[in-house]
Amino acid sequence: MKRIYMDHSATTPVAPEVLQAMLPYFSDKFGNASSLHGFGLEAKEALEDSREKMAWLLGAKPEEIIFTSGGTESDNLALKGIARRNKDRGKHIITTCVEHPAILETCHKLEKEGFAVTYLPVTGEGLVDLAALEAAIRPDTILITVMHANNEVGTIQPLEEIGKLAAEKDIYLHTDAVQSVGKIPTDVNSLGVDLLSLSAHKLYGPKGVGALYIRRGTKLESIVQGGGHESGLRSGTENVAGIVGLAKAAELCQENMEKDGHRLTKLADRLAGLVLGKIEDAWINGSMQRRLPGSLNFGFSYVEGESLLLFLDAKGIGVSTGSACSSHKLQPSHVLLSLGLRPEQCHGSLRITMGRSNTEEEVDYVAQCITEAVERFRGISALGRK
Ligand SMILES: *Cc1c(COP(=O)(O)O)cnc(C)c1O
Repeated sequence: MKRIYMDHSATTPVAPEVLQAMLPYFSDKFGNASSLHGFGLEAKEALEDSREKMAWLLGAKPEEIIFTSGGTESDNLALKGIARRNKDRGKHIITTCVEHPAILETCHKLEKEGFAVTYLPVTGEGLVDLAALEAAIRPDTILITVMHANNEVGTIQPLEEIGKLAAEKDIYLHTDAVQSVGKIPTDVNSLGVDLLSLSAHKLYGPKGVGALYIRRGTKLESIVQGGGHESGLRSGTENVAGIVGLAKAAELCQENMEKDGHRLTKLADRLAGLVLGKIEDAWINGSMQRRLPGSLNFGFSYVEGESLLLFLDAKGIGVSTGSACSSHKLQPSHVLLSLGLRPEQCHGSLRITMGRSNTEEEVDYVAQCITEAVERFRGISALGRK
């Protein structure tokens, strides 16, 4: 059976060019970047080349890039690092209700350490209300953290405006850009952010590696103690092969961003048109205007998203109900609830995130399978149709 993957917000395959770039660093060029001999220097050179590449892609300076084990660690380092180091200036943090668990759980942890956190509500499309953000700012606010693009509904936040507000008030601004880097422009100066998290496996790089951009002059403390790697902010022998893969993957995304974005937007519009044209009581969650290319979150009344997912899986199609991180929980998605959906509406959601491999032919087949699945489950649903 031909398999169709449409869950690129959960993870992506490693691009062939990325794998090729990484391979030598598992064998011939295996050195420890801290060693002073030729083996070490070879690894160090690859590490610093990758740092320069990542910096260039983000409009940053090489010394402003720290490599980590991925998005989750970057988010933890940014939030805990800023909060603990700047607690003498204030103990208030502002975030949103629709963040990834890597942010929300870290905020909960910081609340236990005595920090106060404001969780901003969002509009029905998932957008932060700038007036509400401004009203939430207090004299003791030290950090604002707002994700660039949402992993469940694909909504893109007005970061530029938030950046201006944060700069005016002299408050650090962090963004979880794990879903946006490689898909839409993420120049740190245009966005006005002081810290930015990213992860390789969401942009056709390997799992277990990511980076944190830290604007020069931003004060934060390390959360991992050890040999003082990465300017003392992230100890531990660097994952050189992974880092080389991250830089290569990010470079490829940058080169193809416009072309890929255009193609994926067209594919998503096609799928949305086909599905909404054929199925009643169906809708798109999130924003149609400010949305990641290739990302769709459908809502269907009277069906369970899990049933749809399993039906599609049996046809070789990989999609998700919400985020990969929350799909094992039975609670309705915190993101969809924040958008104002009722719990029963959240249960009928299906997230489809397209990527490099997907074609128009696949879109047509997936649309047909979704239609078949919804009709079948509605036919046997106890809730029935009105
Ligand atoms: C996937 C994801 C993360 C976590 O990144 P990992 O590299 O898997 O730890 C964080 N934030 C968002 C928005 C994500 O989509």
